[in-house]
Amino acid sequence: MVGEIIGRYGTDEQTSYYVPKLTSGQYLAGSFALSEPGAGSDPGGMQTTATATRDGFVLNGSKAWVTSGAHAGVLVVWARTAPRETHPGAKGISCFLVERGTPGMKPGPAEKKMGLRGSNTVPIAFDDCRLPKSALLGELNQGFAVAMTALDGGRIGISAQATGIASAALEEATRYAKDRRQFDRPIADFQAIQWLIADSKMELDAARLLCLRAACSKRDGRPFTREASVAKLFASEAANRICDRALQVHGGYGYVRDFAAERHVRDVRVTRIYEGTSEIQRTVIARSVLRT
Ligand SMILES: Cc1cc2nc3c(=O)[nH]c(=O)nc-3n(C[C@H](O)[C@H](O)[C@H](O)COP(=O)(O)OP(=O)(O)OC[C@H]3O[C@@H](n4cnc5c(N)ncnc54)[C@H](O)[C@@H]3O)c2cc1C
Repeated sequence: MVGEIIGRYGTDEQTSYYVPKLTSGQYLAGSFALSEPGAGSDPGGMQTTATATRDGFVLNGSKAWVTSGAHAGVLVVWARTAPRETHPGAKGISCFLVERGTPGMKPGPAEKKMGLRGSNTVPIAFDDCRLPKSALLGELNQGFAVAMTALDGGRIGISAQATGIASAALEEATRYAKDRRQFDRPIADFQAIQWLIADSKMELDAARLLCLRAACSKRDGRPFTREASVAKLFASEAANRICDRALQVHGGYGYVRDFAAERHVRDVRVTRIYEGTSEIQRTVIARSVLRT
């Protein structure tokens, strides 16, 4: 996501400096620092500022929920560059490339998350963090559009993530249903269990196809904002149902760590929250449908 934004909005110098480091793995990760403690669904309400100086900008403020923020080689950071009074809401926000270890940038302790424990999510404070002019990504005061474009693509990624977790959950549930015996037969013989598996397969296939439709629209250069939100909303909500059913198939064993079912339930939950909550996806979809 970070490499794609830099490739699309960056200067030739920015692209040739950062993108190979991201794609080759020289940087462990790139981070996307849009959310703040008081600005999640409404990023236009951000408080972080970047004040222009003679030779660059000075960043001050706090970002929240920065995935891989403690490890990223470069972070894309959004900040207000014009006052809210003259540039309300999404106007007056710019986008910056901040390198790991820049003085004044302080990642906080990792969040103690319910799931996705293989990734690190941290708050980051910016305290008089000085950036050169060349750190500006895209046009001054036009950074919000960069964030929205990135999120459109990111939402396809989250729909794929949800589909992948759900696919694993259904595989585990199917295996368990064939192995586990009650009443002298595999529980897979019971229609109640078969229906859980059938409903999950139906929703999984639909999620995968919606994800692929959005991805193909993006690949082919067609508009895909609505398709990405539809895919993200459906796949994340369906995946939560699929993981819950998979846990149910495991009975009590689903509730303990001996099987992956409980981890799938914890890991999948966030797909309904980040890169725009389900409620925000519904807003995007309805706005788009009502406009046509
Ligand atoms: C594990 C994790 C990783 C993350 N990684 C990143 C990252 O790398 N970079 C980054 O920038 N952010 C990241 N986020 C932040 C994430 O994008 C936000 O949590 C999300 O956008 C929701 O914002 P919020 O938590 O402030 O909730 P809020 O915006 O406060 O929402 C609270 C509730 O109100 C609802 N709500 C808000 N506004 C409306 C509305 N207009 N209509 C209807 N309902 C509404 C929401 O749907 C939600 O149910 C991450 C979050 C998590 C949990």
